[in-house]
Amino acid sequence: MQHFINVILPIPLEKLFTYSISETEFQHIEPGMRVAVPFGKSKIYTALVYETHTNPPEVYEAKEIHKILDDAPVVNPVQLRHWRWIADYYMCTIGEVFRSAMPSAFLLESETLILRNERGVVDENGLKDDEFLVYEALQHQSMLRVDEVSAIIDRKNVLPILNRLIEKQVILLKDEIYEQYKPKLVRYVKLGSAYRSEEKLEELLESLSRAPKQSQVVLALFQLEVKDKKPIKITDLEQSSGSSKAVIKALVDKGILEEYLIRIDRVNYEGENEDFDLKTLNEYQQKALVDIQKSFDDNKVALLHGVTSSGKTEVYVKLIEECINSGKQALYLLPEIALTTQLISRLQDYFGEKISVYHSKYSIHERVEVWNNVLAQKSKAQIVIGARSSLFLPYSDLGLIIIDEEHEGSFKQFDPAPRYHARDAAIVLSKLHNANTVLGSATPSLESYYNSQTGKYGYASIDRRFGNVVMPDIELVDLKDQTRKRRMKGHFSERLLEEITETLDNGEQVILFQNRRGFAPIVECTTCGHSPQCPNCDVSLTYHQHRKQLRCHYCGHHIALPENCEACGSPTLDTKGFGTEQVEQEFKDLFPKANVGRMDLDTTRGKYGYEKIITAFEQQELDVLVGTQMLTKGLDFRNVNLVGIMNADSLLNFPDYRAHERSFQLLTQVAGRAGRTKKRGKVIIQSYNPYHQILKQVSTNDYLGMFKEQLYEREQFLYPPVNRIIKITFKHKNYNTLNDAAEWFAKGLRNVFKSGILGPEYPPVARIRNQYIKNVIIKVSLKQSLPQTKNSIKRIENSFNAVSQFRSVRVIYNVDHI
Ligand code: ADP
Ligand code: ZN
Ligand code: ZN
Repeated sequence: MQHFINVILPIPLEKLFTYSISETEFQHIEPGMRVAVPFGKSKIYTALVYETHTNPPEVYEAKEIHKILDDAPVVNPVQLRHWRWIADYYMCTIGEVFRSAMPSAFLLESETLILRNERGVVDENGLKDDEFLVYEALQHQSMLRVDEVSAIIDRKNVLPILNRLIEKQVILLKDEIYEQYKPKLVRYVKLGSAYRSEEKLEELLESLSRAPKQSQVVLALFQLEVKDKKPIKITDLEQSSGSSKAVIKALVDKGILEEYLIRIDRVNYEGENEDFDLKTLNEYQQKALVDIQKSFDDNKVALLHGVTSSGKTEVYVKLIEECINSGKQALYLLPEIALTTQLISRLQDYFGEKISVYHSKYSIHERVEVWNNVLAQKSKAQIVIGARSSLFLPYSDLGLIIIDEEHEGSFKQFDPAPRYHARDAAIVLSKLHNANTVLGSATPSLESYYNSQTGKYGYASIDRRFGNVVMPDIELVDLKDQTRKRRMKGHFSERLLEEITETLDNGEQVILFQNRRGFAPIVECTTCGHSPQCPNCDVSLTYHQHRKQLRCHYCGHHIALPENCEACGSPTLDTKGFGTEQVEQEFKDLFPKANVGRMDLDTTRGKYGYEKIITAFEQQELDVLVGTQMLTKGLDFRNVNLVGIMNADSLLNFPDYRAHERSFQLLTQVAGRAGRTKKRGKVIIQSYNPYHQILKQVSTNDYLGMFKEQLYEREQFLYPPVNRIIKITFKHKNYNTLNDAAEWFAKGLRNVFKSGILGPEYPPVARIRNQYIKNVIIKVSLKQSLPQTKNSIKRIENSFNAVSQFRSVRVIYNVDHI
């Protein structure tokens, strides 16, 4: 009898692929193990075993696998069911889910991998444009494949560029096929076995009397061994003996010292105080806790709606404690930007070693380690706190999932597939485990609040801050009026300046919020109105003062700031709009004595990027922090008494049906950073449109008013939560092909669905990296069957792909696009 396995390949194939295996392999292989398999002419992939069987494939000859990579499954059956759901719901392949679910170190291919060179000192200005793009991409991803590099710089032959980057110490290449993950080994030393007794040691010291450095090392080691009673690291010995590596090495060579290696986990908790007492909940937290537990008893997801600083985290802590006491695993999901050391160390105070952290700034090795710890059900991974990708860890027995800041749009993966919403995928995962789910927010998404109103979810609320701290006082300042009366200094109104002065005089801190990074988004000629455009994308270039450059935020293209307008030649280029960098600059001119820091994507690159700035602000080395929406999340600064929102209008005017909901959430969250201790905080919102309904609702903390009004609009225009949305994006290099293709597809949709098809339309940025883009939106009523709708769409796509000129058009689905 022949034996076969069906595997998931980490590529967008509709079907599982079949390989043949030997009888012996058949005895050993289980679903969830990885195998290395050949594919196509010359590729090797890491594939995941889905099932074993004895039926040869009908249309092709099954190839043999190369190698079994695991002794035991690394993925469990619940995960496979979850991935299947994600692939079906979000209209992608299970291979794409597999690729994004596993740490990349588990997915090695024959292709070369590129890593950033952590040791290299990079001179950014010495990089050519395409080199810079690769460098920049590696700041966001720890690793790139050759084909990804190709896509980033849009050319096939990338090896010369990679060679230059190696020379410039920007990257490293990795070429191993199977074993990429290496446990971290630390070097330790001990006295050689011949010298362990006291007499021998004395003899030794005697004999070393003419080598004072060496005898110093031996003495130091002896003292450390007596004092610490645990293995001594070479580095510790170096330090305590004050001698060099060379001296230690000489002793090792003589056999006086012995060197050995110990494997350690990279992700270590180094805290000491493991027995922190949990805080006692106040009556409002207690009531919320009871309501949440009631929802659990009813088998419902619970929504915890608690104003900023109401103490939601402490309620989660109680739920986690209960969960782990019953021996189950708990997952605490947060948006990436809210994953701060502040919160992590707060939880570590309670749960110590039991906590593992998992998110994108972690290295591939750290991720593998967390994966393996969860797989082995180690107690150090009983609680995982992480960003959306932590949904994919191999949990065997989840008891609780907390989704904090559940309203955050960044829970939705935008690119690449699977374009899943982590909140919704978490609820499904929770059901598969029979676990409890809590969604928490001070400003719930319309969807979740709606679900709690219709009774689908349970509801718990805390409507006051912890410790009787009052909500901040929010004042709206009319920029039109202030400008007319010439009361503005740069972008600061008179009122804001007064409040800043008073706050700083009191020794308190200030947060200034501007939702744009860079100096001023665009440069415009005041003579002819021209503004420099990106040649590859349909956007104006952004001005970065620091480097005196114009840059494209979509493709990385950049040029030096020109002296004259390239259209009319006049020296009248001026900046329009303003970003965080300019706010910082103006502030320095107005308050030269204050220390100001800036927190945005540009200043927080690298693993500890945020931490440095947050700590400096926390330690009050900075008086003022200027930032983008990064500083809205989960930060608890004790001494901030004033929050200034420089300009609310760009948020409100964003062309999107969610703009108002988002503005309410963002402004409320930023305002929530003010006055978290006894004294009432102050918030100043500057706007050209201070009578805007949303601003009123923010200033009176009127969530319900906002909800009702927005829901009414969604009902009128058939948007979520009263309807579903599937967005289809078409991309192609050729303008005409793209237009024809999008029209063709939309017509097919209109024939089938009659109504609810919008577009094709160009998005605000209609060309990125030389690809033209058009979108079609399908509104799917809640009564309509979603699987049937998707099948119809897929059928249209099949006929579409049969048209030869459309074959090269990319079709991208985004279900529940937000
Ligand atoms: P939220 O997450 O709702 O914004 P936090 O959980 O950060 O609020 O709580 C705000 C502040 O109140 C924190 O400094 C926290 O330590 C404190 N706090 C909350 N609940 C308690 C409690 N039961 N006992 C003592 N301090 C608490
Ligand atoms: Zn001009
Ligand atoms: Zn561009």
